[in-house]
Amino acid sequence: MGELNTSIQYLSGVGPKRAELLRRELGIETLSDLIHLYPFRYIDRSGITPIAQVAPDLAYVQLQATVVTRTLYGPSSSIVSQETDPIHWGAVKRLSVIVEDASGRMEMVFFKGIRWNYQRLVPGSTFLFFGKPQAFGTRMNLVHPEVDVPQDGALTQGTLTGVYPSTEKLKTGGITGKVMNKLQAAALSLCLPEIRETLPEYVLRDRALVSVQYALKNIHFPKDSYALQKATRRLKFEELFFLQLSLLKQKYIRSRGDRGILMPKVGPDFHACYNALPYTLTGAQQRVIKEIRADLVSGHQMNRLLQGDVGSGKTMVAVLSCLMAVGNGYQACIMAPTEVLAQQHYANIQKYLKPTSVRCALLTGSTTQKERRGIHAALEDGSLGIIVGTHALLEDNVVFRNLGLAVIDEQHRFGVEQRSKLWNKGPSGQNVPPHVLVMTATPIPRTLAMTLYGDLDVSVIDEMPPGRKPVQTMCIGENRRPAMYKFMREQIALGRQVFVVFPLIFESEKIDLQNLEKGYEEIVRAFPLPDYKVAIVHGQQSNEEKNFNMSAFVAGRAHILVSTTVIEVGVDVPNASVMVIQSAQRFGLSQLHQLRGRVGRGAEKSYCILVKDVKTSKEAQERLDLMCATEDGFEIAEQDMKMRGPGDLEGTQQSGLPISLNIASLAKDGQLLTEARRYAEQILETDPRLEAPQNEPLLRELRKDKYEIKDYSKIS
Ligand code: ADP
Ligand code: MG
Repeated sequence: MGELNTSIQYLSGVGPKRAELLRRELGIETLSDLIHLYPFRYIDRSGITPIAQVAPDLAYVQLQATVVTRTLYGPSSSIVSQETDPIHWGAVKRLSVIVEDASGRMEMVFFKGIRWNYQRLVPGSTFLFFGKPQAFGTRMNLVHPEVDVPQDGALTQGTLTGVYPSTEKLKTGGITGKVMNKLQAAALSLCLPEIRETLPEYVLRDRALVSVQYALKNIHFPKDSYALQKATRRLKFEELFFLQLSLLKQKYIRSRGDRGILMPKVGPDFHACYNALPYTLTGAQQRVIKEIRADLVSGHQMNRLLQGDVGSGKTMVAVLSCLMAVGNGYQACIMAPTEVLAQQHYANIQKYLKPTSVRCALLTGSTTQKERRGIHAALEDGSLGIIVGTHALLEDNVVFRNLGLAVIDEQHRFGVEQRSKLWNKGPSGQNVPPHVLVMTATPIPRTLAMTLYGDLDVSVIDEMPPGRKPVQTMCIGENRRPAMYKFMREQIALGRQVFVVFPLIFESEKIDLQNLEKGYEEIVRAFPLPDYKVAIVHGQQSNEEKNFNMSAFVAGRAHILVSTTVIEVGVDVPNASVMVIQSAQRFGLSQLHQLRGRVGRGAEKSYCILVKDVKTSKEAQERLDLMCATEDGFEIAEQDMKMRGPGDLEGTQQSGLPISLNIASLAKDGQLLTEARRYAEQILETDPRLEAPQNEPLLRELRKDKYEIKDYSKIS
């Protein structure tokens, strides 16, 4: 009883010291933790190699050989003892054992565990030796081979040996690969009887999955490669399936419930705005607006993610959606992650609203108390139709008369909690949440979107407004800086503006800040007053200072804006034609893509110059090359995920995904993920609350709540 939760310390072969090591290095505290640490690769031990065929290019070999002689060496290879000589253990530094099979002889070398190995490797006895051959002069040897007695119980039954994640500390602490295998075997034999099946019988049958017990046993000690394959598939499927089930369950319950504001009309303001647009909407914009409209008339709450590359025209979609809400007598809000963005949205939206009768206001941290009071009142009495703002909108004293739609720009900057705060701002007294439209310009690979935003419906604007010019991208070394300055001067002479971005990984990192300041000084020296004006923006500035500098650039009063990645999100300066990215090798692909999206918004030809440092790794160079090769955000996101793994999606600023998968990989198991999602949908289709008796195990597993995404703010 209760073996699974037993502290690892009590497992035979562990003890307090090793338990502490396992906890610190691998986070393993209980037997359950241990058996859920799976090998990350396997060594095939099926074949036995004749000694004569051992070559240094073989990764691992397994020999079956008989001990011939044992020699103990002291310092500088002096022989301490040979077979019959008396032994002075204190002087021994190395044990050399010569073994032979029918094809030849070979040396096994030990620097550690000498006495123990000496005692068991008695001449005339036969063992299995397993290790990586090394060339030593003209001869070959195995250093610290694993030694097994042939047919030595459970561990050598299978032909594949698991290799577990390990660290230097674990190895020096005595927890070698072999020890880990033994611990797993011991833990498994204690725990397996207690492991309960997590998937209902019918799921196992439907998906042709092996039982959890079979899977656990064979993931650690595969009977053969076929058994391993089945075990892996089962465990990966299970992980992805529960993740999807948990996400989709919320979505199904929501969309089945009738807690959604019904918005049957489109309204005159929508038409007034639409008819006055200076351009026609792209096919993608029209499609997305139809999708949103379908949600609003469904009677269910909308929770939709709108993905669209930088410049794809999401703002227009947001405005038209807000006007639909207004057309039905509701209010709408648009929330942006920064003050500058909110201001910019506000300015754009006001233009779009000119032909309508809708009142719109801006609410941010720097809105004065007096203005604020007016806005609060107008929101409460309903005379204000649309409000644009920052987090300030979430404050408790912001009360809407009847908020019907909340648009959140750049989702990943807001956490789930903030989203739910908005939910509670729905029409007063009715306890109905507003519709939610989340917009993001960060292209996310399909598999990741399915997971991170699995509870949202997804719309994609996959078409750019006509007339956007490609941004010419090049990668240069520091040595070409003078040429780059010359080019910048030429562009400025043509009336254009230039962004210069420095990496700032953590806003508090002093070194990065010093680099930024040094870089700024250098630019000011190269572009001196009165001919040139250079503005600087970074996270350590006060809001006022930031806004002042930013506005100077937006309004065209500064030629160059030196900044950290604060400009990454959404700022629109159509006149800026050059984006210089310093130490570009330090940025992740998605970030580079976002930054590049800041230029190429106007009529002029635009350029992105990636300046790399001397020390640029091969991987970083690959990223930079990809940037020069394509402008397609989705392609970049897919490649990014492949190159760096999903945990590193956003590159240097990434602190890891808010979900951790134990065995499945979003980058590699896309197909299985799709299968798991479809199957989860199929189950929820008939039993959205998982109340049917056969689904009881599913509900039980979901309650463990390890499948919940806790912190969306980490996706940045
Ligand atoms: P983003 O998706 O990055 O938020 P915006 O909504 O800011 O993109 O749009 C980028 C630019 O494209 C804006 O200047 C906008 O006026 C313009 N735009 C949007 N839709 C169209 C369209 N259908 N045709 C032409 N220009 C458009
Ligand atoms: Mg935008």
